[in-house]
Amino acid sequence: MTSSQNHVQILGGDQFHNLAEQELAKHSILMAKVHIQNIAWINAQFGNQMGDQVITTVRKALLNLERSYLVGEISPTLFGIACLQPEDPNGLIADISHALSEINTNSHWPFLVELAFGVIVANNDVSKNIHHWITRANTALMVSARKGQGVIYDESQDLFQKIRFELGKLRVGDNPPEGMRWVYQPVVETDSGKMIGFEALVRWDSPTLGSLSPDVFIPIAEEMGVIHIIDRWALMATTSACHTFDALNIESVGVNVSAKTFEHDRRFVDFVSNLVATCGVNHGQLVLEITETAVLENLLDASAIVQDLKDRGIEVAIDDFGKGETSLMNIATLQVDYLKLDKSLLRLPNLAVKGAMLKIGADIGASLGVKVLCEGIETQEDWDLVKAAGIPLAQGYFFGHPQPLEYYLKNE
Ligand code: C2E
Ligand code: CA
Ligand code: CA
Repeated sequence: MTSSQNHVQILGGDQFHNLAEQELAKHSILMAKVHIQNIAWINAQFGNQMGDQVITTVRKALLNLERSYLVGEISPTLFGIACLQPEDPNGLIADISHALSEINTNSHWPFLVELAFGVIVANNDVSKNIHHWITRANTALMVSARKGQGVIYDESQDLFQKIRFELGKLRVGDNPPEGMRWVYQPVVETDSGKMIGFEALVRWDSPTLGSLSPDVFIPIAEEMGVIHIIDRWALMATTSACHTFDALNIESVGVNVSAKTFEHDRRFVDFVSNLVATCGVNHGQLVLEITETAVLENLLDASAIVQDLKDRGIEVAIDDFGKGETSLMNIATLQVDYLKLDKSLLRLPNLAVKGAMLKIGADIGASLGVKVLCEGIETQEDWDLVKAAGIPLAQGYFFGHPQPLEYYLKNE
């Protein structure tokens, strides 16, 4: 049978995996997993009927892909695709990206459908069963969810495995591994364009693996339970530079902290407050950025943690607000200091909708007394929109890429 779309139909999850396994026994295949990331949010905001429409549209797009040989519905929001052309994983990624971007371009929905997808090259190797490949496909999907683009896992290159090996060597109390460092991206005041803050972002130029994107190694570190070690280093690097921030008139510095860190490292809050006390960081100068979805998963704990941090003079930002599931009720309960609007809001296809969404973000901030920042300003047009919406803080390549601190000292 060829991959003619006429023969493709949606299979159940088990059937999909069984048939994929039969193919795999004969030859190598590509297996893709596609997940609709923000379906719960779409259902909550626009009703289940709208959610159903989205699911149907995504199903159709996947069935119509030229390369689909088998398409399975693993859960209502998670699809599997098997493709019989293992030599071209990039082609499959390109096809899926294209089909999915068409969904957003052609729809008149007042939101973007967010889709994550991972592709694996499943080799015809008797020592590995289908479950091995499903696990790998799930890792690719997880990395894709953070990167915002499709990801290929190719065991012959074995990058994920090598990253796992390197991350397995990290120990609390050690120094960061060679090539791991933090860079800082400016945050500007929207009205004046003046730089008043920074966000610290990790970079890892590994001597053995080359330059690794945090979107790739952070989810693997989270999965392995070592992310708290990296987050501790980020805080040490940042707080030890606080005199430089004062010299640059930087009022606040955001440091990303994974929700997994709070889960695995029960002494984390004590660790941060000790650092802050010993390094001479000003009250309110350090801001911990926590992603919204992560916060919402465990709201009771989150409220207690946020309060504890605030009591110790450490501020808290909800990161990536507007991406994935958003609940106003939860934001109100948490009493955070900052709301960082996700950059995907600026990429909404419809200008009027984009303006309206930014305005909603600004209004929430104003009524809850939370400082609002919009991420991902890339053009003058983006900046104008943010100003028009009345959002006080902005960040993005338009103002500057993340740079080492020496860069700012030299250009002062
Ligand atoms: P994030 O916290 O949302 O950080 C913003 C990301 O957007 C950064 O990517 C930044 O370089 C990028 N960015 C900034 N301006 C623009 C723009 O105008 N357009 C676009 N398209 N992108 C822009 P980066 O540095 O690759 O970091 C990716 C993610 O990795 C971060 O997303 C954060 O979730 C995580 N991360 C980075 N450093 C750390 C860390 O030290 N600890 C933890 N736990 N996570 C980190
Ligand atoms: Ca952040
Ligand atoms: Ca963000």
